[in-house]
Amino acid sequence: MQKGAILVLSGPSGAGKSTMINAASEEIGEYYFSISTTTREPRVGEIDGVDYFFVSKENFEEDIKAGNFLEYAQVHGNYYGTSLKPVRIALEEGKLVIFDIDVQGHRLVRAKMNDITTSAFITPPTLKALEERLRARCTDDESVIIGRIENAKHEIEAVGEYDFMIINDTVEKAVKEFVIVAKAARLKQSREDEAKFIAQWLG
Ligand code: ADP
Ligand code: 5GP
Repeated sequence: MQKGAILVLSGPSGAGKSTMINAASEEIGEYYFSISTTTREPRVGEIDGVDYFFVSKENFEEDIKAGNFLEYAQVHGNYYGTSLKPVRIALEEGKLVIFDIDVQGHRLVRAKMNDITTSAFITPPTLKALEERLRARCTDDESVIIGRIENAKHEIEAVGEYDFMIINDTVEKAVKEFVIVAKAARLKQSREDEAKFIAQWLG
């Protein structure tokens, strides 16, 4: 069976990554959304084990030592990381694995799994629109919003490292583009699958 593939989504917090995944979930076929582990506090409405695995700094650092993360990074003063095991299982099952991770995480995934990785940077049309959306979301206090905006100014510089950029102007248009990218990501072949195919094709 063909191994799965990875779709990395990055973009400033508030860019619309969760909105894209939720709106497109019916159209993109079977996928596994990688639930990250974080040391940040849950936002109102966030559920442990659904949005993130919320853990203490001590627990996170134990997992680092144990080599449990495919990648991890510090973002806005908190740790965020992707556990290796569920990703491996989903890939073995041939699923599209979707990551919502920052630009540092994208670099690490590229370094380890470049052949099966497709990436898209999602952003609102302007910094001003991002600020308005973060305020309208009403999930962060003022100091957190300011930190996220400052971070976004640096993150946008990394847009050229991604295969695709999706400008989330209207949700409808951005979701259409996201579906195209997700379908294309599925078609990526691992080097291993490629070699098997060639051997079969030659007969
Ligand atoms: P992320 O997952 O990237 O942090 P969200 O999906 O939570 O971002 O979106 C941030 C906020 O912006 C949410 O309140 C969402 O409803 C809103 N939003 C998303 N896309 C748009 C859009 N195209 N126009 C206006 N608001 C949007
Ligand atoms: P938020 O606090 O808004 O949920 O996420 C803040 C930032 O952390 C976002 O840019 C998000 O993509 C990133 N992030 C979430 N999970 C991970 C992860 O597992 N690894 C890395 N490197 N970044 C993550």
